[in-house]
Amino acid sequence: MQEKGTISIHTENIFPIIKKFLYSDHEIFLRELVSNAQDASQKIKRLASLGEYKDELGELLVEVSVDKKKKTITVSDRGIGMTAEEIKKYINQIAFSGAEEFIEKFKDAKDAQEIIGKFGLGFYSAFMVADKVEIDSLSYQEGSEPAHWICKGETEFEIKDGKRKERGTTVILHLNKDSEEFLEDNRIQTILDKYGKFLPIPIKFGTREESKEDGKDKDGNPEYKSIKVDNIINDTSPIWTRSPNELKDEDYLKFYKELYPFSPDPLFWIHLNVDYPFNLTGVLYFPKVKNELELQRNKIQLYSRQVFITDEVKDVVPEFLLLLHGVIDSPDIPLNVSRSYLQSDANVKKINSYITKKVADRLNEMFKEDRKNFEEKFADIELFVKYGLVSEEKFDEKVRDITMVKNLEDKWFTLKEYGELVGPSQTDKNKEVVWLYSTDAEAQHSYIESAKRKGYDVLILDGVLDNHFVQHIEAKLEKTRVKRVDSDPMDKLIEKEEKLESALNEDDSNKLKEVYEGIIYNKLYTVQVESLSPDELPVSITQNEFMRRMKEMQKMGGGGMMAFGDMPESFNVVVNSNHPLNSEVLNNAKTGKELGKQAFDLALLGVGLLKGEGLTGFINRSLEILAGKKPSTAKKAAKTTKSTKTTSKTAKKKPEAAKK
Ligand code: ADP
Repeated sequence: MQEKGTISIHTENIFPIIKKFLYSDHEIFLRELVSNAQDASQKIKRLASLGEYKDELGELLVEVSVDKKKKTITVSDRGIGMTAEEIKKYINQIAFSGAEEFIEKFKDAKDAQEIIGKFGLGFYSAFMVADKVEIDSLSYQEGSEPAHWICKGETEFEIKDGKRKERGTTVILHLNKDSEEFLEDNRIQTILDKYGKFLPIPIKFGTREESKEDGKDKDGNPEYKSIKVDNIINDTSPIWTRSPNELKDEDYLKFYKELYPFSPDPLFWIHLNVDYPFNLTGVLYFPKVKNELELQRNKIQLYSRQVFITDEVKDVVPEFLLLLHGVIDSPDIPLNVSRSYLQSDANVKKINSYITKKVADRLNEMFKEDRKNFEEKFADIELFVKYGLVSEEKFDEKVRDITMVKNLEDKWFTLKEYGELVGPSQTDKNKEVVWLYSTDAEAQHSYIESAKRKGYDVLILDGVLDNHFVQHIEAKLEKTRVKRVDSDPMDKLIEKEEKLESALNEDDSNKLKEVYEGIIYNKLYTVQVESLSPDELPVSITQNEFMRRMKEMQKMGGGGMMAFGDMPESFNVVVNSNHPLNSEVLNNAKTGKELGKQAFDLALLGVGLLKGEGLTGFINRSLEILAGKKPSTAKKAAKTTKSTKTTSKTAKKKPEAAKK
């Protein structure tokens, strides 16, 4: 038999498209050919198990080899093979899916789904790297004749009788000039490792070890070129294809190490396994999620029936799940298709919400099983959980009850528990419960002390996503405000019904304000005189919670916050009108201003904002005071920690009242 023909009309323009656009990554030709060989092998296995094929199955193996002289790559299998008619039908008419017919024929078979080829134009990717492709095939069907097909990358093909005696298919690629890199053993090995590491049928690749330049090995023995070492590339039954009850923790950990050799052990994992309404298996691991969101991403590998597809799973799993590691495998995820298609694909959406639910369920389970253990792990996964709950409504609903916050005493609370804990003492006059938090217990020490003096509790929220988290709590919990300890003076942070009377009348308050405004050299500082308890600092620096939070979120790249983009950091200088030092500032014509300056600098120092020239000035002034140049005021300033409420009149007359 010999026949020449033209590949079906639809294909007229397919080659240039394949070469240029369809696959940006040329190396995937090997994935496609090896996948086809795997499919063909799986099919014959299936037929044998259904009793449709009665001969010897033999050892099913996919062999890849390279011939450097002839510049060919060969992929061969012992699968179902193809008759000449089938080659014409499946290979020539690209649009036709052979798998469909196979399914039609065996639709009653239980696992038919598993053997559908979904690689679309897979075979034709060979023409990205080859000028000429040959197929040598013998079908499993009784009485089949071997067939030999040759195509030179144009729409003409040639098909003739072949010489093959064994069932199966061999595909030979004659590499084009630009693709000779694929003759390198290492290159092929790397590609096979990448895409084929977990394929179900063993893959054998003959690598050749090159000799050293002088032809001797390190012991001086002659070393030969082209020693052929055949090795099996793949683990044919990776853990996600196995049943969870036959697996131990060690198996999961071992697999993790295989995927990420340099990563520390994961905290825990989830074995995914669904077959309705879509097909999905996999194992997702929870790593210790550190504070760098970006570094953690793209660790999940996507497979389709054990063929590696990509580790860019952005469109397949929800954004926040990108922080997880592991493998997902779904034949329902369309391959080699565009981003936009993936995003609108109904299966992908379902997979998304399935994984989200699974992850949330697992977290709930862990909470119920062993709260202590959950608390210990929470610190390592909170970034992940918070990312999830701020970005996925559904996830938030499922984990709201087990989302934990930690206070400065290292105690963990659920949101509900915490609301109940602080409710009694931290409810303000508007009936809102105010949660206080610190992002840095060291830096905000004096504010924390001030909260403690009032008997308030302080949370520690120092993660990169905590500004979003805080925003989220306020949006989701009723009558709850969340404020950083330094965002207002304590009396204003949680404003109570009873208000402290000011020691100063309005006039004096204004004057005091002016004095401080005269002292402050930076326009970004706004002075406000407040009547606070006398044991609060005379001057403190605060930063509005809302403004700060918005700025932080905007810095992280949150959308829709342009208005805050160009705003510099701004601070409030809170002057405590009830602090005795401030009566001195107001009334002592000689040293008042100096004292105020010193108090202001101390406030700046307290929040780490005193730098450069300001700091030098402060140090010099302090030294002068120590040297006794202005001992009286210095002593007074140091001693005035306690005071009683004074009226403005007495404050004016007796500024030393504080000494008492
Ligand atoms: P797909 O695999 O998505 O169907 P391909 O272009 O890769 O698309 O292959 C087309 C068809 O050719 C396959 O469905 C299969 O029927 C047949 N085929 C390809 N390679 C082989 C092979 N090695 N053995 C048997 N049949 C094959």
